[in-house]
Amino acid sequence: MDYQSCRNIVNAFSSSVFASGARSSSRNFRRQGQSLIPVYPGQRDSLFVQLCPLVKTDDIISYAQLVHAERANLQRGMNFGIGKSYSVFLMSLRKNAPYADAIDEATGTLIYEGHDQSRTQGGPDPKTVDQPLQTPKGSWTENGKFFRAAIDFNTGLRKKAELIKVYEKIADGIWCYKGYFELIDAEIVPSGGRKVFKFHLRPVEKKILGRIEELPHNRLIPTHVKIEVWRRDHGKCVLCGADKNLHYDHDIPFSKGGSSLTAENVRLLCLNHNLEKSDKIICILPWIYVGTCAAQQIHRH
Ligand SMILES: [Zn+2]
Repeated sequence: MDYQSCRNIVNAFSSSVFASGARSSSRNFRRQGQSLIPVYPGQRDSLFVQLCPLVKTDDIISYAQLVHAERANLQRGMNFGIGKSYSVFLMSLRKNAPYADAIDEATGTLIYEGHDQSRTQGGPDPKTVDQPLQTPKGSWTENGKFFRAAIDFNTGLRKKAELIKVYEKIADGIWCYKGYFELIDAEIVPSGGRKVFKFHLRPVEKKILGRIEELPHNRLIPTHVKIEVWRRDHGKCVLCGADKNLHYDHDIPFSKGGSSLTAENVRLLCLNHNLEKSDKIICILPWIYVGTCAAQQIHRH
């Protein structure tokens, strides 16, 4: 199927079916003790949400923490509408990765490959057939849901681009949160004798009150740097040797010209040492305030 006929199918498909039917099939899970309880949209346990630790960009987490942070059992790489206002992609740029995800160095755009049809007994090798837009029963695959979202955004049918949180696998069982991206385009391209989906994602920053801003792509730490730093620091905080709650830290802040493009400026820090670092910046603020008040007092007398 070519791009145009795919576009036609997408456009012809009723938006109401897409909005209700397809979404409700993406079931989420809530952890209670050892078991995962299914949660449907709008039924989230608000206290549970409040208790969930916040995962920040460039945090390093285990798969269990990833599941915990998203309150969902992420069995597949593409998860449309899994959060209240966003989707989730799992990706890998490692050599043996199953899909050819890539970062466009010039623009910072993440090119995320669509996913193959599932393997069936006696069926063809999924790597030899076109990536599916729809399931045999006619509902949308994750490829189809994201493809439609991208085309709808491009044609003005939807005002806001789909927001996607991206987690990247950097070693076995080790994941890094890459932050928010906007799904700005999608295409179907020939690859090794078959057709695959390519999704174009632009890095963005989510500000307070849900405001979205474009993120300068030089703020992203490239994967090769992350892997190099992970090996160099032996997966431990460089200050205390802790191997839990780690974060990729920019030794010299971006605001002071620190680059994330080389491993020299990036190091592993644990949560405590990372907080200590930001505390130093916050601690100055009361002193500035006291200083200003004192200056005003002196001025008055
Ligand atoms: Zn530490």
